[in-house]
Amino acid sequence: MPHPQYKRILLKLSGEVLMGEQEYGIDPVYVARLAEEVKAAKETGLELCLVIGGGNIFRGVAGAAKGLDRTTGDYMGMLATVMNALAMQNALEQLGVQTRVQSAIPMSSVCEPYIRRRAERHLEKGRIVIFAAGTGNPFFTTDTGAALRAAEMGCDALLKGTSVDGVYDRDPKLFPNAKRYDTISYGEVLSDDLKVMDATAVALCRENSIPIVVFSIREKGNVARVLAGEGTQTIVRSNKGEEA
Ligand code: UDP
Repeated sequence: MPHPQYKRILLKLSGEVLMGEQEYGIDPVYVARLAEEVKAAKETGLELCLVIGGGNIFRGVAGAAKGLDRTTGDYMGMLATVMNALAMQNALEQLGVQTRVQSAIPMSSVCEPYIRRRAERHLEKGRIVIFAAGTGNPFFTTDTGAALRAAEMGCDALLKGTSVDGVYDRDPKLFPNAKRYDTISYGEVLSDDLKVMDATAVALCRENSIPIVVFSIREKGNVARVLAGEGTQTIVRSNKGEEA
């Protein structure tokens, strides 16, 4: 059973979860496994939007560090997210799930351009809409693209599937005693600079009262579990008294 308060959600996956055990790139076997997870989430009866990062292929900041112009690097990063979106679309359609890819950078022979009303129609028809190319602008991230689309599409929650099972007070990979939060406020995430999403994305979710649910996508069946309000997760939302 889906979480009763969620009717439409946006699932954001980092690019790195598509590379499986590889150092970089796309592992089709792993993408197929993720597609099963996404399908299971869809089958709970939700309307589902998907945003996939590009960090498994290219990050603008990393390119800039090696001498590439930042904006060029960012456009390359956005193109990487389109490749990931196509890989996920392919894997989902092999499972019989109807999808549409909409890109913030128009590329008409590859996928649809982002048109909010059209995306709305796809969702009503039960298709999964995969939003590619982030916001379409350099100096942003796909987390911010995800927050923006979640707000535009009126999503009830933004689910962030990563390799960690929630938000910790310190990096759990470096500090075994790190404490995981069950819930935490947007304000605390921002003031303590906790690595959930970048500050722009968190602020956008706060302004639009969209809860951010952070969970591990590496555990099988976890998306559906989290949607049922079970499993290990951290929910970022307003504290009583905190401005929405
Ligand atoms: N990017 C961008 N604008 C956007 C979204 C993404 O310039 O609106 C670029 C940016 O260079 C970023 C790269 O695309 O580093 C890949 O996205 P991101 O790092 O957010 O992917 P993830 O960490 O989720 O895999």
